[in-house]
Amino acid sequence: MAAVKRLYQVACVTDTGEVDYITVTDRLFARLIRLKRDIAYELECEAQFIHPTKLCFLCSNELGSENLVYWIGADAQIWLHAECARELASHLIADTKRLRN
Ligand SMILES: [Zn+2]
Repeated sequence: MAAVKRLYQVACVTDTGEVDYITVTDRLFARLIRLKRDIAYELECEAQFIHPTKLCFLCSNELGSENLVYWIGADAQIWLHAECARELASHLIADTKRLRN
């Protein structure tokens, strides 16, 4: 079994026409691109599949061939080391808790 190299955040159009986001493995992402069905922003995702950023969004160190996390937003996309994604997520959660207080 091939190792998972990357995770992709993919925007999908649901049955009701709403946009939802799912996280998929690199193998499923490649299959989705081939199917070209119900995928928003597939061209942008495909471009990033070929040309990811060279540096991690959080730590600025070079991205290697280890597991990476990829997010696409309205007008930006970020690539992170898996550990950096965990760290960023914990900071975001802490920030939102501070907003509630
Ligand atoms: Zn990093």
